[in-house]
Amino acid sequence: MIGSVPGANLWLPKPALQGLIDRLRELGYEVVGPRVADGAVTLGEITSLAELPAGVQDEQEPGRYRLKVIESGGYFDHVVGPHSLKPFLFPPRTTVLQVLRVRDSWEAHSPEPPRPKRAVIGVRSCDLHALAIQDRVFLGSTHRDPEYAARREGLFLVAVNCGRSAATCFCVSMDTGPAVTGGADLILTELPDGFVVRVGTEAGGSTLAGLGCQECSPTVLAEAELVPKRAAAQQTRRINPATVHDTLMNNLQHPRWDDVAKRCLSCANCTMVCPTCFCSTVNEVTDLTGEQTTRERVWESCFNEEHSWTGSGAVHPTTKSRYRQWLTHKLATWIDQFGSSGCVGCGRCITWCPVGIDLTEEVAAMEGERK
Ligand code: SF4
Ligand code: SF4
Repeated sequence: MIGSVPGANLWLPKPALQGLIDRLRELGYEVVGPRVADGAVTLGEITSLAELPAGVQDEQEPGRYRLKVIESGGYFDHVVGPHSLKPFLFPPRTTVLQVLRVRDSWEAHSPEPPRPKRAVIGVRSCDLHALAIQDRVFLGSTHRDPEYAARREGLFLVAVNCGRSAATCFCVSMDTGPAVTGGADLILTELPDGFVVRVGTEAGGSTLAGLGCQECSPTVLAEAELVPKRAAAQQTRRINPATVHDTLMNNLQHPRWDDVAKRCLSCANCTMVCPTCFCSTVNEVTDLTGEQTTRERVWESCFNEEHSWTGSGAVHPTTKSRYRQWLTHKLATWIDQFGSSGCVGCGRCITWCPVGIDLTEEVAAMEGERK
């Protein structure tokens, strides 16, 4: 086969993508990809090309998401939907401890974390950056998260360069996209008749054997380079990463926080769809017979009052203080804590906010005042 070493660019005819799905399944991977479900492009198990959302485009605006079908029939014409990689590595609900009654006593055990082999097709650049952020949070300290680590180990990533941006995307300003610059085993760029496949890792290259890959002509490579550039040129929203930290931290008493609090429902949608938000809480659930108690870790949000509960009450008792906590952590104190922004500019929190609150607009309002 033509050299499939990391860095190589190969041509994969469109139907051969089925071969890649089959190969990954033969290697024992559950293959996950984009598909239409519940009126959105979501991520779920796929076995065939026919399940990909061919020709489906998403229209996204603050508080609005709609699908439409276009003629071109590209498999990856959509942008990011409500799902990211987060639930596959940090599931919304996991069991950390089970306690069972055994005769007159109790036995406790922590279940072994599952170690799924999972290949995700169609991952976008912003989500690869979000994955790197979550890696730092869950694996980057002395307290490694065993559940996350076990799931991360078996992850195989087939990324796609975005060919269009949603109106809510601002990855260009966050320097996280739309071109994929690394972090995946294979990187696809979709053209009308096939894909340019850049090999990201040796494991990625080895999956291509026998799939009919050909050499890429300079013309095809030049055409592929234009694809993410086209998407980048469509973005109108932006955040200035160089100034946002000080803008927010120097304006903690700005009247804009009262303004946004009047609109915010404290519903937590923005934190649920965010690919980097990582808060969780622990619940004890006892069955009706009293024979078994399960300790579960479930996603939690800084928009819930209980999240900041201490012995003397909630630290963030108002919507204003909760929104301010979220935005300042995401765009400012995350940098102090982890050395990078907690936002990758995917725009999900804007699209899936039921009242269309847009963090780029909130920051811009404070920037204006500061100037
Ligand atoms: S804060 Fe919003 S735009 Fe930034 S990563 Fe989270 S969901 Fe995406
Ligand atoms: S900003 Fe929007 S999505 Fe987030 S809690 Fe407020 S209303 Fe809900």
